[in-house]
Amino acid sequence: MPIETIRNFSIIAHVDHGKSTLADRFIEICGALDHGVAQNQMLDTLSIERERGITIKSQCVRLSYTSIANQVFTFNLIDTPGHVDFSYEVSRSLSACEGALLVVDATQGVEAQSIANCYTALAQHIEVIPVINKIDVASADCEMTINQIENLIGIEAKNAIRVSAKTGQGVRDLLERVLIAVPHPKKHATTKLQALIIDSWFDNYVGVVSLVRIFSGSIKKKQKIKIYSNKNIFVVEKIGCFTPKKIDLEELTEGEVGIIIAGIRDIHAAPVGDTILDEQDSVSNPIEGFRKIQPRVFAGLYPIDTDDYDRFRDSLLKLGLNDSSLYFEPENSTALGLGFRCGFLGLLHMEIIQERLEREYNHDLITTAPTVVYEVLKKDGVVVRIHNPSELPSPNEIKEIREPFILAKIIVPQLYVGPVMQLCMDRRAKLIKQNHFGSQVSLEFEMPLSEVIMHFFNELKSVSRGFASYDYDFLEYRVCSVMKLDILLNGEKVDALSTIIHKDRLDKYSRTIVERLKELIPRQMIPIAIQSAVGGSIIARSSISALRKNVIAKCYGGDVSRKRKLLEKQKEGKKRMKTFGRVDIPQEAFLSILKYSK
Ligand code: GDP
Ligand code: MG
Repeated sequence: MPIETIRNFSIIAHVDHGKSTLADRFIEICGALDHGVAQNQMLDTLSIERERGITIKSQCVRLSYTSIANQVFTFNLIDTPGHVDFSYEVSRSLSACEGALLVVDATQGVEAQSIANCYTALAQHIEVIPVINKIDVASADCEMTINQIENLIGIEAKNAIRVSAKTGQGVRDLLERVLIAVPHPKKHATTKLQALIIDSWFDNYVGVVSLVRIFSGSIKKKQKIKIYSNKNIFVVEKIGCFTPKKIDLEELTEGEVGIIIAGIRDIHAAPVGDTILDEQDSVSNPIEGFRKIQPRVFAGLYPIDTDDYDRFRDSLLKLGLNDSSLYFEPENSTALGLGFRCGFLGLLHMEIIQERLEREYNHDLITTAPTVVYEVLKKDGVVVRIHNPSELPSPNEIKEIREPFILAKIIVPQLYVGPVMQLCMDRRAKLIKQNHFGSQVSLEFEMPLSEVIMHFFNELKSVSRGFASYDYDFLEYRVCSVMKLDILLNGEKVDALSTIIHKDRLDKYSRTIVERLKELIPRQMIPIAIQSAVGGSIIARSSISALRKNVIAKCYGGDVSRKRKLLEKQKEGKKRMKTFGRVDIPQEAFLSILKYSK
């Protein structure tokens, strides 16, 4: 097809602003779906995505659009995930596009997340087209929304197209605008192949399927291709695209987007963001922007039933096939038994993986409190990355410890600025920028990632009555004053309860955990000393006196889980006691301290 008739674009929208619904209208107008088979929200595939209304895996549909002037165009609508944890995927999807529709819900206004994604698009020189959605709703305020787009994002929005993705009003005008405003893919002088891997996933029958954008040259069946980063060579077996039905093609040419299958069995052999070249080509550079994805948040995942361990490992392996950003390695803990230390892009990613393991793979899991990755510069000059408190070198080997910092962007109505500031300041944030736009205020803070991974978002929502929106970007590693806090029972260290903690939080946290343990550990035949310590010095202490009467002390106090099955298993767990320094600790006590709850 002539390159002039191709338009590659994606939709940027905050969760619930109507991206999937709008995509459905596009698919409908382009006549790609038979009525009846139409399933709402074609672009969302995973069941959790559907329920939580977020799109995780990028997907792409090829649509054939006949314009009002009766010309036929090919639209590649490339989906982007909406959440900050997936910002790298957003930038990958965007780099395959020449345009992006910024969809803003006129009843909600602009949210922090859209601003961040919009800046990513602008930085990549992509044409951003503002779209005002939900104009059918009575409370829609188009003027306010336009003002916000202009003031908060800084792009012109006076002529923004107003649509209702629900009723279809304005959607055809929008498609006509896409024709004019989104440039066609650039023509290159060379016929050398350069293609970007936008996404890869694993299919049980054919192996790795990759969604690619051809920047120059073409890919044909049987062609030999080379993956830039690892120099692996593969033979292309199949080429196709989704319309949204999967169809086979003979080739993909310059400017086109489609899928290729090349007998690749390992997802890591075709990493997202990598470049595909001709087999013979050893001189071309990769397409800009390839980054290795690094997990930033780690937590331990343990099957509640230890017999479930082997099956659990298989499930993780399977999930890992489709999610190259998921990292895991075996870990064992005296308290929780055998499990895995898993690395995630962020908290949402962690919750999604946890939920998929529980729902799709039927595991009952304990997730420990998440931690960030610390960088430790040792006195011998070696830098090590620590994602588990037990790995922290001893204090006399350490020169400095660095922690990840983020740039947090918060948008909040004026009314709640005070409480939001307070919340952030309590979490070691530094205010960098503050801008007022009408009744909205945008705030930018530099703050440690470790301060936002525990319940920050929930608290932000609660102090702002749900009106604040939030997004963050990773900044850099900075030197910090953190230390390892150990918990001792009758003088013996309990590995699972060690944490890395900032000096400002040390006293409070020490006292809380010691008190919690005192409540949770039943009285026993001997007195129990509970201590928290940093290195050799004791920070807080408490004790439980010995049992006199033969009563079964109560050992409840754990959280009641949503699943009955889980509860029953927990009951068994209560019987399992772990012994430390001759102290028996009920499983429950561990759970209630270690478990991360949303
Ligand atoms: P996404 O999270 O951006 O993909 O948003 P969805 O497309 O899933 O839409 C979120 C909710 O808003 C759904 O309940 C949609 O039915 C609803 N919605 C989307 N567009 C419109 C619209 O134009 N008008 C109305 N009234 N509701 C809409
Ligand atoms: Mg959606």
